[in-house]
Amino acid sequence: MLSLFLPQQCLHCGQPAIASRVKSTYPLAHYLCEVCARILEFDEPPNPPALKRHFSRVASDFEVRDLATVFTFVAESPVQSLIHSLKYSGMVHLAQQLGAIASEFAPAPFDCIVPVPLHRTRHAERGYNQAEAIALGVAKLRSARILHVAKRTRPTPTQTHLSLPQRVENVRGAFALTRHATDIAGMNVLVIDDVMTTGATLASVAVTLAEAKPKSISILALAAVSQ
Ligand SMILES: [Zn+2]
Repeated sequence: MLSLFLPQQCLHCGQPAIASRVKSTYPLAHYLCEVCARILEFDEPPNPPALKRHFSRVASDFEVRDLATVFTFVAESPVQSLIHSLKYSGMVHLAQQLGAIASEFAPAPFDCIVPVPLHRTRHAERGYNQAEAIALGVAKLRSARILHVAKRTRPTPTQTHLSLPQRVENVRGAFALTRHATDIAGMNVLVIDDVMTTGATLASVAVTLAEAKPKSISILALAAVSQ
């Protein structure tokens, strides 16, 4: 269900959120308290070469131009709480705020943005696609178009408990190009998702998009699991 009100409590620890106490321009002022905001501030993303090495394990024959992420995904951290709220509480505004933060990390140049699609049944359950909501925040600040050129052809079971080879198998062929896919021919494409765990899902999307002959494919994930 979509949540339209802005919370007053920190999504991570339940203390009063910054915005409930002071006027603040901090993008996450409605979602975090001062302490958790500070923890987030010190969260350093995995460095790009490490991310690329990590990604090459699931896409050995595929060249991604740039791979960027904003946060390291740490269990029991404010990052985890924010992402959980994105996925399961339908917080569109939060997703867009995170997208605004992520926009500074988006590797230039890119001509269009492709959010990792959800399968339509999951989209219907959740009411929105969190990757798309993040992408909207990025698109707004970087003046890029969002193109829906990929779709999920089957609902993939949750990957949480799968091994790396199982994850790769789980998402193999799970995406297909839409009839608008010719739009990305010759373009620098930025694929956006919320979390990169093994990278198997993003790799599957990227391999699918490559069939439409873009000039380059880069990836921006809000958070990545550190390997
Ligand atoms: Zn807090």
